[in-house]
This record gives sequence, C-alpha cells and structure tokens, in this order.
Amino acid sequence: NLSKRLEKVASFVPKGAIVADIGSDHAYLPCYLVHNGISPKAIAGEVVKGPYQSAVKKVREEGLEHLITVRLADGLEAIEDGDQVDAITIAGMGGPLIVSILEKNPDKLNSVTRLILQPNTHAKVIREWALEHQWRILDEAIVEEDQKIYEIIVLERGPMELSEAEILMGKKLIQEKSEVFLKKWTHEVKHWKQVLKSLEKAEQTPEIEEKRRQILHQIALVEEV
Ligand code: SAM
Repeated sequence: NLSKRLEKVASFVPKGAIVADIGSDHAYLPCYLVHNGISPKAIAGEVVKGPYQSAVKKVREEGLEHLITVRLADGLEAIEDGDQVDAITIAGMGGPLIVSILEKNPDKLNSVTRLILQPNTHAKVIREWALEHQWRILDEAIVEEDQKIYEIIVLERGPMELSEAEILMGKKLIQEKSEVFLKKWTHEVKHWKQVLKSLEKAEQTPEIEEKRRQILHQIALVEEV
C-alpha cells in the first residue's frame, strides 16, 4: 500500500504514461503505477547504492523486472535514449534539489510532457523554475501525512503568469484554501514572526535589515491571502 502522499503523486500520472521516477528509493511508486495498469512500464532511478538495491529487490519481489528498469544514476541520467518517457516523478526531496536535478540534464526532458514534483520544502523554487523554463502548472495539491505537510505540483509545457503570492503559495491552492493549506501558512507566519523577534535582538546590520524586510514582505503576502 502506498502512502497518502505517494498515492496523490500517482493520481496525477496519466493512464498509459511511461514514467521515470527519480530518487525512487524502494521503487514503491513505479511498482504501484505498473501494478495498477496506469503505466505500461517505468524506470526507477537512484543515485545512492542502498536505496538502489532496495529498489532492485522490491521490483524483483513484485515480479516486475520485465516492466520496471532500475538504474543507478544521478538524476535524469537514469533516462536513456529509447525509453520514451512521457512523465517524470520526483518526490520526497527539497525543492532546490529537485530543481538542480531538472537543470542538470535538460535534454533528458525532450520527450517528457508532464512533470509531477513533490517538494518536501520550498515549493516556491519549483514554481520559479517552471515560469523560467516554459512549463505551466496544470494542477496542484497539498496533503498532510504524519504531521507533515507536502505540496505536489503538476507541470505541462506552456506559458503561465503567476503573482508573487501565487509563486509562494500556489494559485490553485490559494483558491481552494483547504484546511491543510491554512494550517501550513498559519504555521509559517508564526515561525517568521519568531524569527523577526530574534532578529530584533541581533546587531542591526544592513544584512539583518534586509532579511527583516524580506520576512515582513512574505508575512504581508500570506496575510493578504
Ligand atoms: N521518492 C521516494 C518517496 O517520495 O518516498 C523516496 C524519497 S527519498 C526521501 C529521496 C531519495 O532521493 C533518496 O533515496 C536519495 O538517494 C535519492 N536522491 C537524492 N538525490 C538524487 C539524485 N540526484 N538522483 C537520484 N536520486 C537521488
């Protein structure tokens, strides 16, 4: 059984899509996609040996070796010519790491029409990357699992426009204002206010002043929403 978080990620994979799951760890997601007839085949990529071996083991246990290829590779290097990958999933890492993986081998995205990204932190940098690279947000979700809150961003090719608040919090998520969304941002604002308090006690340098200004600006954006 898949976690609620990965189940949500899986729900955004179009039926019939060949998927590359980068940073697959136990290959739970590709196994689920293939078992449930969502993907005819899949690639599981892992850069660390331990998780790579867990993925190989899991795929073998499930009897899916003929449909899921597990590769020990850094990021998108797990995708090879001829794989005909339609969609890429990258889940369970920080936003900046996800962006660095996407930026490192842009050619590997050529055949790809959908990116399903689940940053554990800093979803904002993913929206900024998407804006810069002509991807648009097709859908977004926010889920809570084990007291942690996760955002999922689904991208397809095309232009989009986002306001500063929408880059920070997600346009659809702002419109929905789900309970989990409100919880996340209430918590963030509380945290920023604590940081501000500690900055008041610090020596007043131009850097600290700039940091204070940035935090106040973010708080204003969130409180407006
Ligand atoms: N995707 C799974 C999930 O969401 O449950 C596993 C998440 S796990 C916390 C992150 C995995 O990403 C680790 O197994 C790590 O080895 C892998 N990873 C980190 N950087 C990577 C990279 N550049 N290329 C491939 N895998 C990477």
